[in-house]
Amino acid sequence: MEQVLFCRHCGELLNHQWFHCPWCGHEVVHHRPDWETVVDDSLGRIEESEQQGRILRLDHLAVRLDALESELDAFLDEGRKINSRNN
Ligand SMILES: [Zn+2]
Repeated sequence: MEQVLFCRHCGELLNHQWFHCPWCGHEVVHHRPDWETVVDDSLGRIEESEQQGRILRLDHLAVRLDALESELDAFLDEGRKINSRNN
């Protein structure tokens, strides 16, 4: 199978025998990407952003829980006041 190359500068399809891109003159990089590294890299980035999303959601939850807690505290305080009034 013939190696397919794209110019890193202009993105045009290149012949792997060329040393310079005929479209933009940029040097053709013949380094073949190690697909495992590329996939690992992008998967790692996806995981990272998912984790950041999860952390953000947890932050939101923590804030909401704090709000609920103080609301609950206020509610219980109110209940205690009513109870002590009734006693
Ligand atoms: Zn080019």
